[in-house]
Amino acid sequence: MLTTVEALQAVLAATEVFPSEVVDASQSTGRVLRQVIRAERDQPPFDRVMMDGIAFAWADYESGQRSFPIQGLQAAGDVMLTLDSGHCIEIMTGAALPKNADCIVPVERICVTDGTATLEVDYAVKKDRFVHRRGSDYVEGARLLTTGKRISALDIAVIASCGETDVEVARDPVIRVISTGNELVAAGEAIEPHQIRSSNGPAVVALLASHGYERSEHEHILDDVNALKNRLSEHLENAEVLILSGGVSMGKADYVPAVLADLGVEMIFHKISQRPGKPMWFGKGPQGQIVFALPGNPVSALVCCRQYVIPALAKAGSETLRPPEFASLSMNISFKPSLTCFQPVKLLSNAAGQTLAVPVKTNTSGDFASLSITDGYVELPKEQSEFAVGSAVFLHRWIAH
Ligand code: AMP
Ligand code: MG
Repeated sequence: MLTTVEALQAVLAATEVFPSEVVDASQSTGRVLRQVIRAERDQPPFDRVMMDGIAFAWADYESGQRSFPIQGLQAAGDVMLTLDSGHCIEIMTGAALPKNADCIVPVERICVTDGTATLEVDYAVKKDRFVHRRGSDYVEGARLLTTGKRISALDIAVIASCGETDVEVARDPVIRVISTGNELVAAGEAIEPHQIRSSNGPAVVALLASHGYERSEHEHILDDVNALKNRLSEHLENAEVLILSGGVSMGKADYVPAVLADLGVEMIFHKISQRPGKPMWFGKGPQGQIVFALPGNPVSALVCCRQYVIPALAKAGSETLRPPEFASLSMNISFKPSLTCFQPVKLLSNAAGQTLAVPVKTNTSGDFASLSITDGYVELPKEQSEFAVGSAVFLHRWIAH
């Protein structure tokens, strides 16, 4: 049986990088950038005034001048004026600094009478103060965003400021989420006492969407070999990623691995030494499709989706991965089986600035209602069975931020 590390490595090794596409920049939030965004111009592109007030020459001030006839006005967006010696120009925040000017005094520090601005007595003028010099943030051609970055609202500002209308991003993979099981009934449909509400499909679709993968559709298939064969073969034709749930354990109606093998999906592994999620199956289709068959138990399905599917999709998009995160256990935990334990946790922080992981007990791997108060899960290594309060452990958030 593979360890969790081996399983993740196998998943990543089997996952190919998807091609790019060009989209309108305004539609690119949440997509993975596949190009470098370079500065169109120096920033600021001119010596930019940072105060409303007056601009004049340091040389005049240094020679003792304190009153300056107002030569004109320069507001943001106005063409740059040239200052005459011995004068000042009224300037507004965001304007270009007039030529020959290198001193700015805020409007609060001057008094204007008869077209002449006089400085407040004792106001200490400083050369270059309140001037945001051209290129002081960055220069033309600087790399502002690089390939692999998931585009945030902040990046949209950078892209727009570089004058880009289109951007190259990773094409979102076409994903099918397929739940299986005769006992399952979707919300909105009549249900009998012996049946179960189906929740994995909508939950997996939602988890994918919260990681930026919007192109997934859910379908439910009964535990019937022919139905599974027909539907899965169609999904293999139309999708690049299949995420199944249920039917991968040792039960008599657990047909998924056999049907997938029949359809030419090569098994890469079945079972991982972990809890929850031990029965997970993973394979690769004839056209390179990646096929995850997650266990049906809702907690297992979500943990496996977060632990294996999301990193695979990140690789397919060439997304730059975040560094691993750690949290400190808030209490002693004992976990005897020789399996990696993925323990759901709620996060708190302490006064020392540490992230504390508070274990949230799930009754069974089907007890998904308890998960709603959790932020993620911690990874307790297989080799150990006692984990002391305060130990640092890997933290996997349901949703990275
Ligand atoms: P299985 O892996 O098919 O043996 O399913 C394991 C357990 O998870 C069973 O109790 C199922 O009823 C439950 N289960 C499987 N699929 C779903 C689903 N889509 N939604 C909710 N529970 C499920
Ligand atoms: Mg089942």
